[in-house]
Amino acid sequence: MRMGKLLMIPGPVEVSEAVIAAFAAPPPSHVAPPVIAAFGRALDNMRRVWLAPKDAVPFVIAGSGTIAMEMAVANLMQEGDAALVVNTGYFSDRIAEMIERRGARVVQVKADVGDAPSLDRVKSALDGGEFRALFATHVDTSTGVRVDARALAALAQEHAVLSVFDGVCATAGERFEMQAWGADVYLTASQKAIGLPPGLALMVVSQRAIARRAELKAPPPMSFDFTCWQPIMQAYQEGRPSYFSTPATNLIVALDVALQELIDTRHDDKSGIEARFALHQSCADSMRRTWSEVGLELLCKPALAANTLSAIRYPEGVDASLLSAIAERGVIVAGGLHPTCKAEYFRVGHMGDVTLRPDALEKTQQAVSDAVAQARS
Ligand SMILES: *Cc1c(COP(=O)(O)O)cnc(C)c1O
Repeated sequence: MRMGKLLMIPGPVEVSEAVIAAFAAPPPSHVAPPVIAAFGRALDNMRRVWLAPKDAVPFVIAGSGTIAMEMAVANLMQEGDAALVVNTGYFSDRIAEMIERRGARVVQVKADVGDAPSLDRVKSALDGGEFRALFATHVDTSTGVRVDARALAALAQEHAVLSVFDGVCATAGERFEMQAWGADVYLTASQKAIGLPPGLALMVVSQRAIARRAELKAPPPMSFDFTCWQPIMQAYQEGRPSYFSTPATNLIVALDVALQELIDTRHDDKSGIEARFALHQSCADSMRRTWSEVGLELLCKPALAANTLSAIRYPEGVDASLLSAIAERGVIVAGGLHPTCKAEYFRVGHMGDVTLRPDALEKTQQAVSDAVAQARS
């Protein structure tokens, strides 16, 4: 039974009843046969959800989205390397700093808040340097901007540069075709569109990126090292127990359930991840219609607006007190995040299981509309 307010922020998000039932259990051993089976299935299903090639390596470790970002950076970058960061906001700033902390050089192609750098600018930056990897945030949670991941992955490939996408606010909600697009790392965390509580860092890594790790002069910190984790993932996929560092067993069991729900999704004539992409699209369309009906504007360029969240400007004369007026109506939304303008907008998450719950979506639309009307009166 669900209690309390609807959680409509860009993560953590509402999760399904089956997911709650799966993690709400006494902690199982990491070598218990049902955990081994769940882990193995989850790793296989990640490749399906990521639309990844068969030889790509899925990793699931205890941690947050930031840990997943750190793991990607630590295994690909070292002193003397250069990286190109396609910067669309808060989380692009974060990954740029991580790369610099590894002693690597960062060249950034930045956009104004709410915009994305043009592909021409990215191309000339790639033409003008020797880069190890291109990093981009698929959906920047601070602005609601979605980049053209397909085109960025193609540009990186043309330049023989690895491509790494932070999908923390996108994976399983926004179209991403790891194999067809030739991307090298697509990472996320459990509490966003995958539909679990916080606590797991998830990524799928190409063989090219795995090979890059093998070339590093010095290994990355052990707890992030692909080389330490890959045999563990391999063992679970083969149905064998293995230990390097204790997995978050309750969450692994829930991950198996969440990914299976995702693969079993049907919507119109679509199934699986295609159905999820379509659901997020139609949910976002419906949300945006509501915002425009009540005279609200997005922070980002409409053509770049993500399907997983809306970053919405406060209307004239309205401030962050709108958030508590929305909460009084039973829905929790989030404040702004981008350092240059966080007092000017708020964010509504619409990803994961709620895209299957019209009642939750309508309640959110109603709560925001009513709170805005009241604030204006
Ligand atoms: C939420 C988010 C992160 C950070 O995830 P944490 O689990 O909070 O560390 C990173 N990148 C993006 C795009 C996000 O939305």
